[in-house]
Amino acid sequence: TWSAVPAGPPDPILGVTEAFKADKDPRKINLGVGAYRDENATNPDKEYLPITGLPEFTKAAVKLAYGEDSIPLQHNAIAVTQSISGTGALRIGGAFLARFYPNTKTIYLPNPSWGNHTPIFRDSGLEVKQYRYYDKTTVGLDFAGLKEDLKNMPEQSIVLLHACAHNPTGVDPTPEQWIEISDIIQEKKLFPFFDMAYQGFASGSTTHDAFAVRHFVKAGHQIALAQSFAKNMGLYGERVGAFSLTTADPEEKARVESQLKIVVRPMYSNPPLHGARIASTVLGNHKLYKEWHGEVENMANRIISMRHRLHDNLVAQGTPGEWKHITSQIGMFSFTGLTQPQTKVLADKAHIYMTSDGRISMAGLNSHNIDYFSESVSKAVKG
Ligand code: PMP
Repeated sequence: TWSAVPAGPPDPILGVTEAFKADKDPRKINLGVGAYRDENATNPDKEYLPITGLPEFTKAAVKLAYGEDSIPLQHNAIAVTQSISGTGALRIGGAFLARFYPNTKTIYLPNPSWGNHTPIFRDSGLEVKQYRYYDKTTVGLDFAGLKEDLKNMPEQSIVLLHACAHNPTGVDPTPEQWIEISDIIQEKKLFPFFDMAYQGFASGSTTHDAFAVRHFVKAGHQIALAQSFAKNMGLYGERVGAFSLTTADPEEKARVESQLKIVVRPMYSNPPLHGARIASTVLGNHKLYKEWHGEVENMANRIISMRHRLHDNLVAQGTPGEWKHITSQIGMFSFTGLTQPQTKVLADKAHIYMTSDGRISMAGLNSHNIDYFSESVSKAVKG
């Protein structure tokens, strides 16, 4: 996909630091960058990161997403840059594709998708279209519609896929369905762009949640991937993320990365340091990694147990309708199937607030408020 991407020149200022860092001579002096130092400079410092971010962090991020045994990872063929969380990763990806994807400027988003996807990709210079995803009548996946729409896309279109815990619906394809989706995308030579904002948060296992990404790579797709560490590390405000592209070989990777730098430099020059340092410390230390993964599991399990309590309460209270989707949906959000008037009643009468499409953040429910919430929903549905 990226054979025609030319190697970009190093940045006139930050490229000096890159050259300085690569120099092994003990007498070396860097006079390129505008960061004040005296004889007593300390380590770790708060100086600028390279344009593509903290190398220990991007390495760890890629390993977490693709898995240690990933072929392009082992072949040093994954181009990666740190990003301003998941949003920034999507934006860098959009801008890079708008500039270098040789085949089209159209990206297809699932209907519905996270509300910010459309403006992100539009502002990146792409045209945004939709494919069928959610089936209102089953409150589940419209798999037939999804497949038909993929098959009807012009060849080589760009397709955005939520890697796990689809936002806003909470509806994910099963592994078997992912395999079918991968086959169709391969047949149609579509370009898959994964948004993985919730790795670990959906099932409690970072490996399980990376199934789609890893299957696509194994199946031979070249992919783009946006990662966020906002949710799974609780680093929301630190803006920790990564954007990566799998490429053919290390030479192509170097060309692609040189152009990623040219995309990033005029946007924000270089990414923030603190959160990336936290994430790379946790991911790079065996004991901390295990502790973190246990916490991710606890978060996911707490959400799953709230789904069960909510489902059982609604059924026990004889609430009209089918509520199975509450437990089959995945991740932070649930599309309850509540109508706009019902959400209004809940706000006005019960002081319960959610978006008017009936989406709730499961994370807002806990053992103190779940019974009050269930009763209020049941009343609102009974009318
Ligand atoms: N993609 C999806 C699907 C999301 O739900 C979110 C967060 N709501 C993001 C990306 C990006 O979030 P952030 O920029 O905070 O990492």
